[in-house]
Amino acid sequence: MNYEDFYRQSIEQPEQFWAEQARLIHWDTPPQQILDQSNPPFRRWFVGGTTNLCYNAVDRHLSERADQLALVAISGETDVVREFSYRQLHREVNVFAAVLQSLDVGKGDRVVIYLPNIAEAVFAMLACARIGAIHSVVFGGFAAHNLALRIDDAQPKLLIAADAGMRGGQVIAYKPLVDAALSEASAPPPHVLMIDRGLDSQMKYQAGRDLDYAQLRQTHEDASVAVTWLESNEPSYLLYTSGTTGKPKGVQRDVGGYAVAMALSIRRVFDIAPGQVMFSTSDVGWAVGHSYNVYGPLIGGATSLLYEGLPTRPDPGIWWQLCERYGVHTMFSSPTAIRVLKKQDESWLRKYDLSKLKWLFLAGEPLDEPTAQWITDVLGVPVIDNYWQTETGWPAITLMPGLDLKTVKFGSPGLPAPGYRMKVIDESNGMEVAAGVKGVLVFQPPLPPGCLSTVWRNDERFLHSYFSHFKELLYSSLDWAIRDEDGYTFILGRTDDVINVAGHRLGTREIEESVASHPAVAEAAVVGIRDELKGQVPIVFATLRRKAGDDTTAVAQAMQQRVVDQLGGVARPARVYVVNALPKTRSGKLLRRSLQALAEHRDPGDLSTLDDPDALDDIRRALERDPDRGG
Ligand code: AMP
Repeated sequence: MNYEDFYRQSIEQPEQFWAEQARLIHWDTPPQQILDQSNPPFRRWFVGGTTNLCYNAVDRHLSERADQLALVAISGETDVVREFSYRQLHREVNVFAAVLQSLDVGKGDRVVIYLPNIAEAVFAMLACARIGAIHSVVFGGFAAHNLALRIDDAQPKLLIAADAGMRGGQVIAYKPLVDAALSEASAPPPHVLMIDRGLDSQMKYQAGRDLDYAQLRQTHEDASVAVTWLESNEPSYLLYTSGTTGKPKGVQRDVGGYAVAMALSIRRVFDIAPGQVMFSTSDVGWAVGHSYNVYGPLIGGATSLLYEGLPTRPDPGIWWQLCERYGVHTMFSSPTAIRVLKKQDESWLRKYDLSKLKWLFLAGEPLDEPTAQWITDVLGVPVIDNYWQTETGWPAITLMPGLDLKTVKFGSPGLPAPGYRMKVIDESNGMEVAAGVKGVLVFQPPLPPGCLSTVWRNDERFLHSYFSHFKELLYSSLDWAIRDEDGYTFILGRTDDVINVAGHRLGTREIEESVASHPAVAEAAVVGIRDELKGQVPIVFATLRRKAGDDTTAVAQAMQQRVVDQLGGVARPARVYVVNALPKTRSGKLLRRSLQALAEHRDPGDLSTLDDPDALDDIRRALERDPDRGG
């Protein structure tokens, strides 16, 4: 079937379409109703059907592909490669599930997973799914405060952590961050299950609370844990993401809809058939990692490659060497990673036999044309940009080479994925704009299977964050977009204060709160500015409490360090400007966009509402004093 017919059917006959797609997975009880939209914008897919993500990802393949590789976990940091067949993965997941049960974790309990990109992260996720526990993976690059915020919201029964991660040859000890997060959290779990990789010889256990996984594993080596069948709409996992407030939102995913979206997309978007190899370079802590390192490829009976480390370690050929060694069919990465590789000698890319590689997918941030052109030329395979959000869980705008490959247009992720009723509308009146006119990208309910069901324990926030922007009930992506005459969509950046650093979504409010918690800081404004490598980086404008006698350089450095300590290295402000006043409207609203424009040498826009015109001159002077301003 071609893309047009496939998409049209998903929109015009959604129940028929999704009933058909539902056959891609195993149901213990088949769904009684395909779609319930009696309470929009909430919707329930495959009502009454019972299934299990772990069963679909692992057990289901044992009869046909028990000895096929399921997971290959490679660390460019520790130089370790671990391979697991489906049979071995099944064993590891059963053992892990038994350990969870021994710690009294059961259906509906939350488990926070704070691990680097190692095989145990996959075992832990699948083990939770097996017993109906709700996992919430927190990216290992986040620091103590970020972890504490997520623990308090999810209220887990267990935290799973490692002694350390590694990046660029540096050991990053996790345990001190875990200890700090647990003392900050108001609802710390009773136990921490530690995966000791032997990287941190200083690691200390807190007696009674901290448990060693390797030890518990021995007791459960032969365990067999029955699958807990869940109704399609019960929660499977939470994944926190940044918004406009300082508090991250717990994106809640269901079971059946997500499984079907994974089965469909791995085949039709990513063109992966059972037995083929998918290499996603994401971290399990991100949405891509959940969907295309773990659930998608495994539900699809494929082999998934998981990679810890930088694309340049041990050398810039490592990813291509892996593609050759494992015969990777589809690779999935980010524009930032490709920009990093673009700085290396091209011969690294040409050294390996990439004849099995069919597609390179890139997502998470805008893909600039020079990068797209460069990688297309050197790889000689189509490069497919795809647009999605943590909330959607799978691509919303993409080409679908698993059906038929449409023309690739650089700068555009392409066409809407099945089930996405996409529109580009005028911000002021909610009317659809003409081709070539900028508007807000929205999706009309019902959101397709796989997208978030709600915000964890906060339906109100779900409604307010996504559905309150227009008179009509529409999901706002909070991204600007333009559609061309052929229906291709071009993404033009966020409408809110969220920034995108190397594909990582960060809320400027979170960074502002962290900076402003420094005792010397009176007020802070954080904006994202263009960066050649990372797409965007955060910069800070801050006013200080005590003006005389402060060493502003030292305070600026302390602010940067505070952000690293509280939120993690990904959020580190590239620069801090200490100023006398921040530009605000008469009603006290910070003019972040004017600040951003000035820092990027653009016109700051309409300043008629500015309260204190001198504030901008002060900002200009601060930027001028900085020799490498704006980039
Ligand atoms: P996250 O939830 O972290 O995946 O971030 C989602 C945001 O990243 C979107 O709202 C967009 O602003 C941006 N984004 C994701 N994919 C793309 C893409 N292919 N092109 C442009 N922006 C993208």
